[in-house]
Amino acid sequence: MDKQTTVGELRAAVQQFVAARDWQQHHTPKNLAMSIAIEAAEIMEHFQWLTLEQSADLVKDAEKRAEVADELADVLIYCLSFANSANIDVSRAIQTKLIRNETRFPVAEAQKRP
Ligand SMILES: [Mg+2]
Repeated sequence: MDKQTTVGELRAAVQQFVAARDWQQHHTPKNLAMSIAIEAAEIMEHFQWLTLEQSADLVKDAEKRAEVADELADVLIYCLSFANSANIDVSRAIQTKLIRNETRFPVAEAQKRP
């Protein structure tokens, strides 16, 4: 699905879902920023008391991975709604950030770190 679906299509689907329920009034940048953090915490809850190894194993379990995917979807949906609300081009923002990170974290230096 990721290879067939565009970010624009996902943004439109989220926008449609929100508009059909007249939720634009609630989907303000402030509320959405908070919602992103809350849903991110719901992902963390799955891993809270696990060791590094247990957390790696958790996502190998299909049922647990589906639960985590559900929370990841919540985060991403709120991110897309945030982008809609704040009129941010997600693809441009990511590409711009990756280019900036290329200079901040050169490969040669990153490979020196333990
Ligand atoms: Mg959730």
